[in-house]
Amino acid sequence: MKLLVSCLMLNLFFLGTAFGLEFSAQFPAPLKTQLEDDLQFLGALSAETSDSKNPASPFHQEIFGDFTGETYRRWFENRVQKAGTDSCGGQSSVTACVFGIMPKWIYLSPNYLKFSMPQVVRASILIHEARHNEPENRNWPHEKCPIPFQDENGEDIKGLFSGIRLEGVAACDQTALGSYGTQLIFLATIANHCQSCTEKVRADARMMADDTFKRMLGSPLKSALKADLKW
Ligand SMILES: [Zn+2]
Repeated sequence: MKLLVSCLMLNLFFLGTAFGLEFSAQFPAPLKTQLEDDLQFLGALSAETSDSKNPASPFHQEIFGDFTGETYRRWFENRVQKAGTDSCGGQSSVTACVFGIMPKWIYLSPNYLKFSMPQVVRASILIHEARHNEPENRNWPHEKCPIPFQDENGEDIKGLFSGIRLEGVAACDQTALGSYGTQLIFLATIANHCQSCTEKVRADARMMADDTFKRMLGSPLKSALKADLKW
């Protein structure tokens, strides 16, 4: 049924402006305004220019290329061209999703607005979902987080905005190149090297990067990311 509804929407687009995105006809206006604003933010990001060399790390170079807003814009456009809304499985923690059977689509759930997330966090979620739109990489499936899944203080690790315990949930990654890894690399690069960002944006990026880091499984992976990102 979900597929049928989605297919019907294919013929009912309004052409958007930001990033050449097309929106489903039922796309709510406030959500559209927010998404366009978030994409504009993404496309306007710029790196510190104190170094002669672009500050993008080797992992960042492998996934995106140099750290520029234009790089992110092209990278996102190559993976996402249509936006719709969906309950994304109805889970209370999910803000956005993609479906392998609907290439180039991104779907936002009501939580995208409801969670009142900082803009750089929303932008990182768009990056995360765009990474899933790579069928040539099996859409980078998540790994299940361990049971128990606790931090160094023995506290259960929860979703930063949803507050939901992540143990046993498919919300972790065992490769730096997957969706969470890509999101982390994006966030850490902004936290460390964004010229166009305010201190608040860089602090938000750092907070979300620290949270995303917890989802990376295994010491070798964590060490590789720490070395790459100088984290
Ligand atoms: Zn994901």
